[in-house]
Amino acid sequence: MQYREYFRKRLADLKEEGNYRVFIDLQRRRGSFPAARQHDGDRVREVTVWCSNDYLGMGQHPEVLAAMHEALDRSGAGAGGTRNISGTTHDHVLLERELADLHGKEAALLFTSGYVSNWAALGTLAAQIPGCIVFSDALNHASMIEGIRHSRASKVIWKHNDLEDLEAKLAAAPANAPKLIAFESVYSMDGDIAPIKEICDLADRYNAMTYLDEVHAVGMYGPRGGGIAEREGLMDRLTVIEGTLGKAFGVVGGYIAASAELVDFVRSFASGFIFTTALPPHVAAGAAASVRHLKQSSAERDLQKHRVAQLRARLDAEGIPHLPNPSHIIPVMVGDPVKCKFISDMLLEEFGIYIQPINYPTVPKGTERLRITPSPVHSEADLDHLVDALSALWNRCQMARRRVAAQ
Ligand SMILES: *Cc1c(COP(=O)(O)O)cnc(C)c1O
Repeated sequence: MQYREYFRKRLADLKEEGNYRVFIDLQRRRGSFPAARQHDGDRVREVTVWCSNDYLGMGQHPEVLAAMHEALDRSGAGAGGTRNISGTTHDHVLLERELADLHGKEAALLFTSGYVSNWAALGTLAAQIPGCIVFSDALNHASMIEGIRHSRASKVIWKHNDLEDLEAKLAAAPANAPKLIAFESVYSMDGDIAPIKEICDLADRYNAMTYLDEVHAVGMYGPRGGGIAEREGLMDRLTVIEGTLGKAFGVVGGYIAASAELVDFVRSFASGFIFTTALPPHVAAGAAASVRHLKQSSAERDLQKHRVAQLRARLDAEGIPHLPNPSHIIPVMVGDPVKCKFISDMLLEEFGIYIQPINYPTVPKGTERLRITPSPVHSEADLDHLVDALSALWNRCQMARRRVAAQ
């Protein structure tokens, strides 16, 4: 086989389909985010980032940085081992306590990312519980899908957020089979939110465990940033709550929070937890500072919600269509892959605005969009500039505007 030729051919296919991913080379600057420098060949351009998952700007928060500097100077660069062989530092232990407390659970377990936490925890539970059937929401994240697939357990996919379909599928399964319902709270691309209480009711009725991915909600919702389940008073009804330290918490890492027995079980059987080097201590210290800060401060969340409402109102005033949803994610709908990429390119080149286009296969064909995530570190001037730029490009691309009812 001509290996290089094969790689070239497959990549050329991707490009032809319009599915080839091009990375934007950014230099984030502490204290200035969402302003950043974009490196484009020999050119350097000043841009404003409008598509980051550092939803609250915690990636540059002074308390987070101070904790990381302190731990780096105290403990050095890496953990030096897996959790089992010399890699469990006190920073890891403290962070796991902080996370268990955040979700009102007995214990928590850290992983190197949210992806790994889903892959390893779901994979382990589904594989190690004999005869386990996993009921997976149709729009679950790739990390959950891969974990379930890896477990080789039988999987039943239920229609996205559809309680009737979930109930029908639970009822059709053998009554005595172990069951696990896997779903998310805030879905990343549409920004819609699962009916968590009703799903927990079904889980009780059919004696199923629940596994909730709160990756887009931790730090963001609930009085202490415990997620949608905290906001709705449901944390104690979920078997497992999974989250990331890489989005609203602004650092990196993933975790599950659950009963002491379940956490000990995953700790003891999950290959993706056991056989990998622990996160660096300063990463754990920074994440703990971020979690701690957002437990007692709602200022970031409040300003973020205000910015989201402002942007929605401004888009409505301009008639620029966006998907209504109850979360912080604003999908501006373009509905055409070429236009979506073009608008994104023009935003960057002419206006210094960076919003990654979201095309198939991340979203269905015909629903191509710009996924905008306003944050408390965006100013009103940033917002004006964004709306003016979008409006100008809407005209240039002859895109339809949506008439807004009330003035
Ligand atoms: C981003 C994401 C993950 C993975 O989290 P990372 O910490 O980025 O690996 C898991 N689930 C969902 C729904 C996500 O969007």
